[in-house]
Amino acid sequence: MTTGQARFETGIESSAAILPGPPPHWSFSSLREIRTCPRRYALSRASYPDLWEGPGYPHVPALATIFGHVVHDSLETIVKAVVAAGCESIQSPEAVTVLRELGGYTRVIERAAERRLAGLHGNPRLNDDLRQSIQRNLRGRIADARVQVQAYISSAVITPGGKPPREGRSSGAPSPGGRSPLLPGSHAEVTLTASRLRLRGRVDLMRITESGAHIVDYKTGSESPSHVEQLRLYALLWTLDAGANPDRRPVASLTAAYPGRDTAIPVPGEPELDDIEKQAATSIEEADAELAAGEPRAIPSSQNCSNCDVRHLCDAYWSSVAPDPFDLPDQAKFDCQGMIGVRNGQRIWSFHPEGVTRREILIHAPTGLELPTGRRVRVLGLRLNADPETRTTVALMNSATEVFQLA
Ligand code: SF4
Repeated sequence: MTTGQARFETGIESSAAILPGPPPHWSFSSLREIRTCPRRYALSRASYPDLWEGPGYPHVPALATIFGHVVHDSLETIVKAVVAAGCESIQSPEAVTVLRELGGYTRVIERAAERRLAGLHGNPRLNDDLRQSIQRNLRGRIADARVQVQAYISSAVITPGGKPPREGRSSGAPSPGGRSPLLPGSHAEVTLTASRLRLRGRVDLMRITESGAHIVDYKTGSESPSHVEQLRLYALLWTLDAGANPDRRPVASLTAAYPGRDTAIPVPGEPELDDIEKQAATSIEEADAELAAGEPRAIPSSQNCSNCDVRHLCDAYWSSVAPDPFDLPDQAKFDCQGMIGVRNGQRIWSFHPEGVTRREILIHAPTGLELPTGRRVRVLGLRLNADPETRTTVALMNSATEVFQLA
């Protein structure tokens, strides 16, 4: 902990958070996250020296998220290699050779999946069962990923001439800031920076032509207004990045690329770019102020909190959003705070939810898991399972259920 870093007591054992300060640069996604809930932003990026040495709070990855990353990583590998080889187009014989040298689509995707799976090692929130289930399911979706990657690649427009932009290495004359201008041709994974705003973005594919910059971002989810907002911000970054774009070439097109289909987004003109810049400056000022405020502000709501990865660390969630289990329908998934009671069988414990008098739940735990009798806990991911024979409320745990002891 360095001077100025605030400590936040989460209430969970071994999980005091050392809060982050303002980042050197904001991005579209980090601004969006802090706007949604400053506390989620801060707790996700805080350090937890009593828990682990990794960055931020350990994240429990959803299969869909890892799958999206694998598709994106594979696209990045292929597009970078095709661009670096100076291929005339993605359909050219040279591009086919590049793909063959990479081992083909399936091999590229398998390697991306293995890298993502390797990144799960050392995560204290993943038990062996969950890790194996993610591995099995991800490997079972390689063919789906191949279909998606091929669909993106088939519509990618690549032109030769561009060289990968690197700090301090020139494909054109370096700008005074040491960054190289982007030359005509295609460029994969370009970082654009607006220094005066402290704003940065990474564009998947850029093609520089005489008419200006064609900006493409690959999207693995369904269409969303936020994709439009993001690409318009990239247009601003290209306009303001004096290193990559010293001649202030205009933006020629903005494309959100979905599997097998592209969506063209209208290019903002000068007055609109001015507005986008003002909005970005205001968002950054507000975001910095949120982080300077000491205790990060919580914005609890079922929409914000239901998929929040740090909700067990957030008292605002437990006091205002976590449901009363006795109000839920059978088979509902829920989180619950309370006291673990006595053991009632080989894998069954009584559980006393807080705020509910004289009623208890029976928790069925998976084989090999011991629940801490007499301790207050927060449990994420229980499932109600009504027993028609008795009037007892039963909740099932599975390999994804997590139990956190309150300090
Ligand atoms: S649980 Fe809700 S209020 Fe708390 S940090 Fe997460 S999103 Fe924010």
